[in-house]
Amino acid sequence: MPELPEVEVTRLSFADRIAGARIEQVRLGKPLRWPLGCPPAELVGRQVQAVRRRGKYLLLDLDRGLLLLHLGMSGSLNFAPSQPPPGTHDHFDLVTTRGVLRLNDPRRFGAVVHVEEEQAPGAVKLLGALGVEPLEEGFDPEAFHAGLRRRKAPIKQVLLAGDLVVGVGNIYASEALFLAGIRPTLSAARISRPRALRLHGAIRDVLARAVAQGGSTLRDFSNAQGESGYFQLEAMVYGRTGQPCRVCGTTIRSLRQGQRATFYCPTCQKT
Ligand SMILES: [Zn+2]
Repeated sequence: MPELPEVEVTRLSFADRIAGARIEQVRLGKPLRWPLGCPPAELVGRQVQAVRRRGKYLLLDLDRGLLLLHLGMSGSLNFAPSQPPPGTHDHFDLVTTRGVLRLNDPRRFGAVVHVEEEQAPGAVKLLGALGVEPLEEGFDPEAFHAGLRRRKAPIKQVLLAGDLVVGVGNIYASEALFLAGIRPTLSAARISRPRALRLHGAIRDVLARAVAQGGSTLRDFSNAQGESGYFQLEAMVYGRTGQPCRVCGTTIRSLRQGQRATFYCPTCQKT
């Protein structure tokens, strides 16, 4: 599943090139998770002004309205001067004066939704509950600690919930908790201030490194220039059940938390 770093890498790969382009045509394939929300012809002639990211959504600002894009479970975007005829899994083409932005999404959990403004109910429904961005200034260590103190759920669940800080998915939550030496099952409210600050730093560190390395968690992930990228950070715990911890040699364990696998080192993450 594309996580925040993949979405950010995707954004960086085409944001500059598409800015200023005029929409010439919108081609839809099979239905995605949600309908577009307007007749495709209505978008023709509008200009793409910028591409922003909020959580795992990409926001294409148009001169009127905006498009919200989500990659779902298996989606990838490719922006190229021209594209071959759409294949079986190509379900959205934004044909512009600068090239064609194509969404390939085999499982079709992705979506492209048009709204007239970011405050429109359709956009608020998708973006309204998102927490602060982990890589931006607004992700404040003290506020993070205060937020943790109000939540009794296990810390891993709190990170995945996305309302305190957005976009820390399963892989990055496991890795950040390892770096901070915190057991994933520990109640968020019980994390001391020094440990909360360490976790704050670890979250930023693991996400920023993944973005810097063009990281991906999806094996066939390719960024919008068609270059393949993959998660190049050597995982410390994620996916390493039964293998020795890279720090202390203890066998890495896994458990299930809310349907998701969690990986940890029982020695480095004692409590
Ligand atoms: Zn260890």
